[in-house]
Amino acid sequence: MIKRVILKHGEEQRILAGHPWVFDNEIEQVLVQKMQGFVEAEPEPGEIVDVEYSRQGKPAYLGRGFANPRSKIAVRIYSSSKEGVDKGFFKHRIREALERRRVAGFRPERESARLVFAEADRLPGLIVDCYTGWDAGVLQAAAGKAPRASAGENSDPAGALRFEEAETLLGPPASWLSIQFLSYGMDMRRDMVLQALDETLKFQGGIAGIIEKSAPVRELEGLPLQDALIRGTFPAAGIIVFENGYPFRVDLLSGQKTGTYLDQRDNHRLTSERARLSAKSTPKNHGEPETGLHAETEKQAFRILDLFSYHGAFAIHALRGAGEGAEALAVDSSAEALETARLNARLNGLEAQLETRGGDVFDVLKSLEKDKEKFDMIILDPPAFAKTKSALEGAIRGYKEINLKALRLLKPGGILVTCSCSQALDEFRFREIIASAAADSGRRLRLMDFRYQAQDHPILLGYGESLYLKCGIFRAD
Ligand code: SAH
Repeated sequence: MIKRVILKHGEEQRILAGHPWVFDNEIEQVLVQKMQGFVEAEPEPGEIVDVEYSRQGKPAYLGRGFANPRSKIAVRIYSSSKEGVDKGFFKHRIREALERRRVAGFRPERESARLVFAEADRLPGLIVDCYTGWDAGVLQAAAGKAPRASAGENSDPAGALRFEEAETLLGPPASWLSIQFLSYGMDMRRDMVLQALDETLKFQGGIAGIIEKSAPVRELEGLPLQDALIRGTFPAAGIIVFENGYPFRVDLLSGQKTGTYLDQRDNHRLTSERARLSAKSTPKNHGEPETGLHAETEKQAFRILDLFSYHGAFAIHALRGAGEGAEALAVDSSAEALETARLNARLNGLEAQLETRGGDVFDVLKSLEKDKEKFDMIILDPPAFAKTKSALEGAIRGYKEINLKALRLLKPGGILVTCSCSQALDEFRFREIIASAAADSGRRLRLMDFRYQAQDHPILLGYGESLYLKCGIFRAD
């Protein structure tokens, strides 16, 4: 018999508004039917339960979910009807998730994308990222032998690897899945999930491997941390995927950080476009009136500063947009990340244009200011400073400081691309921080774009936790 989780009076409001979680302190009682009638019971971890509340003294139905008495999130609702969970259920939900991506313009058989975003796709605790590309070793060897396009033939930098070229050399790309089981109920049903994925994802190049990734939240569910290749293989040299048409190396297995930040795809593209427009209009001799003979001679490079660069995705997109003669400095505390950033620059024909600097961004900002360095575009994409609501005040000081310091390095007319992936920091508060950094630095900022995560990480209204990434693009006077 399916157990009934009855909520305390008033606790149904958030769930009626679309939120999928029941917290442990919101439960009045759990009942199960026995011969003698309903008696109190405790659900097992991962067990399916029905969630109800009392409306004018009568039981009213809210939905069905996975219970976990070990977690503060006592029930994760996956359906508002009395739907069972079998392979067919997962196939149906995965198809719905794929359809959502297709409608938003994603083509996972050609470009990497998040296929399932947990609660936001009504699959609580399940994350499936699909990386589509080619074995990096094989592709680089094949491309090395093939005649390469020269800069004159198209707008790409000389030596930049192109998707079509890879496809001609090696055939359609394959896909690798990076999968996370972050709730007890989902972890318990992993075999069903894997079978459903296998029967639903029919990409031309096939699924070459599945990698399971852990996350600290598994411990809150009472699950062990584990990372493993659970199906197929993964190339030792990693894979090369294309984002917005630009090549990037991805390693799904090694290191503490893997994959790429798929959620920034659209913000990367927009940054590229802003760099293109901005570099085009940058006066050749900055600040000086263009007069006489010397006007054309002193062309200044369009300078990009990518802070918290990871694999250099923002820097590379900005360089590709800005075109010939632009230069970028990518800063990250991880030497491994910067090594991949340099490799990515090479794949994009930008080796001579990207410089990397290892170190703490807070220190690097100070030293750049001391050296009176100035930039035309600065990108700030820090890790989540506020992982919890209680860490918010400290995080706000951190965001303020980096934005203020970055603004001091920005040339007149420069562009600031500034992000926050702290879910606990809402977008209004984030804009306030930037406004206050602007005021303190004596700069006037105008908003050009304000964006969120890409739509393969859907934002489900009523479930605030699904909106976490904010990205503002501003132009300074
Ligand atoms: N901009 C990247 C994603 C950045 S993720 C993209 O678009 O793909 C955040 C990065 O910040 C990580 O690579 C991490 O190594 C780095 N990092 C974290 N704290 C740092 C610090 N204090 N100084 C420099 N880098 C830091």
